[in-house]
Amino acid sequence: MPQTVLLTDYAWPNDEVERRLIEGAGMRLVSGPSDPSPASVIEALVKQYQPSAIITCWAEVSEAAIAAAPDLKIVARLGVGLDNIAIDAATSRGIWVTNVPDYCIEEVSDHAVGFALAWTRGLLRFGTEVREGRWEPAGANLRRLAELTCGIIGFGRIGRATAAKFAAFGCKVLAHDPYADEAPVELVDLDTLLSSSDIVVVHAPLTLATRHMINRETLAMMPRGGLLVNVSRGGVVDTQAVVEALQSGHLSAVGLDVLEAEPNVPEELRLHSGAMLTPHVAFSSDASLLELRRRAAEEVVRVLAGEAPQQARNVPVQ
Ligand code: NAD
Repeated sequence: MPQTVLLTDYAWPNDEVERRLIEGAGMRLVSGPSDPSPASVIEALVKQYQPSAIITCWAEVSEAAIAAAPDLKIVARLGVGLDNIAIDAATSRGIWVTNVPDYCIEEVSDHAVGFALAWTRGLLRFGTEVREGRWEPAGANLRRLAELTCGIIGFGRIGRATAAKFAAFGCKVLAHDPYADEAPVELVDLDTLLSSSDIVVVHAPLTLATRHMINRETLAMMPRGGLLVNVSRGGVVDTQAVVEALQSGHLSAVGLDVLEAEPNVPEELRLHSGAMLTPHVAFSSDASLLELRRRAAEEVVRVLAGEAPQQARNVPVQ
């Protein structure tokens, strides 16, 4: 009986890439629906199929799901963030947790810079106006990006790439990361970053410590009329506080690729001309998706063949 791999969900039209690699290695692939199911449905799928490996994109792989498959050896995330996987439960049961940490560094950092350029150059505003038949360049009030300060919260792989791109545009770049001890830009505390930056970009992961780190109090520290960009996880930013900051004009604009309650978009954001919103696609390009899918499936094949994974995010208890 071939080993079973459960693909819980996938954010692309089909599972062809995963299937080719998994079945090519002599294993069986069972796919859930492409949209992520609730944790209880994933638990039922795990009970039913007893997989040796789980590949997940957005669906939650809970402690109960991990406990339901005695032969489970690996939970592979199709992505970077691991907040949808019960890592501690996997670790204590001797199960590897992997991700693909660097497949979309260029895409996400481009997305952050893209929001900044759209803001400084008025791309969304003028795009809408011209489409509506208005040709009104006077009073454009555009900004010179090279004169602005950009503060990056979370100076990891993506934060560093974003910093290099803003630096290439001539910006002053600051970074805040409690775990970084060296950086090619000035490392500052959070309060200094917020009070000094025209553009604040969030690249920190969602953890207990970072949940709502951007809130009423921290937003109030930013200079009036700035831009907030979040391409990390929705929960790092208090959405209601952002809505209020936009409505009061304290924030001139926001670029949000991620939202706390995605895919639900608060109406106040949808209707606000300063809100630039994308549906959690910062990671996505044809090239990045192909790389992501191939590398996640290859980790599974490796582990089920008895080898160690290349991108382990835990050290399983043996
Ligand atoms: P990374 O692990 O390389 O970097 C994250 C950095 O954040 C680390 O340097 C870490 O020290 C820092 N950090 C941790 N806690 C912090 C805190 N309290 N304050 C400030 N910094 C803190 O990860 P990465 O590859 O740069 O990705 C960053 C995040 O971006 C991921 O966790 C993921 O959630 C998100 N992401 C989003 C998309 C998207 O499509 N929108 C795609 C990929 C990644």
